[in-house]
Order: sequence, then C-alpha cells, then structure tokens
Amino acid sequence: MEKYSRKDFLKKGLIAGAAFAGAGTLLSYCRKPADEGGADEAASQSCNDTSGLAENEITARNDANYVENSKTPGQTCSNCNYYTQPTGGAYCGGCQLLKGPFNPIGHCDLWAAKA
Ligand code: SF4
Repeated sequence: MEKYSRKDFLKKGLIAGAAFAGAGTLLSYCRKPADEGGADEAASQSCNDTSGLAENEITARNDANYVENSKTPGQTCSNCNYYTQPTGGAYCGGCQLLKGPFNPIGHCDLWAAKA
C-alpha cells in the first residue's frame, strides 16, 4: 500500500477542492439569470392572461404586437425602458404603457432601450 505524506494529502485536497469549485462555476454558467427566466422556465411561463382587462386595453396590447417570446435579438420586456419588475415573487412583470402581465422575455413594437 502506498504511503501518503501530509504534503501529498494536502496537495490532493487542494486539487479536489479546486475541481469542486470549478464544477460549481461551470454549473452556474448553465443557468440563465432569473430576469431572463432561463430558457426552460421562461418557455413554461405564460403572461397572457388578459381576463382582467377592458376591451380597449386588450386592443392596445394586440395593436402593439405583444408576443410572449421576443423574436427581436437583444430586445425583451425585461430590458425595456417601460418594463416594471414583478412583485411578491411573481414571474410576470408590468408595463408603463400597456395593461396586463408581461413576460420578461416578451416584446412589443413599443420597446425602447432603458434610459
Ligand atoms: S413597452 Fe412593450 S416591450 Fe416594453 S415592457 Fe411594455 S410590453 Fe414589454
């Protein structure tokens, strides 16, 4: 049986610790920031409940071509100047221009870069 010195033991412990920390860092890169929802989480969330809105508010939303999942690179509700953050642990945020819940990864024609 091989005999380990204290120095060998410490060296192997440091290598194992570094590997463990590296794996944690790698895993953290696999997860997207919460405000972007993460691809899987965002895809399963819906912010399309317009049941509490008046007809004209739904029309305004439709006229602005709001979509739940932005097709415009770099433009989402979460980075729009008019987006309001969700409260109370909710997923959907609000909008200063339109009524109703809005998906952080959504988009509409009124999008504007944050001032
Ligand atoms: S203006 Fe449009 S893109 Fe901006 S937060 Fe409101 S719905 Fe989203």
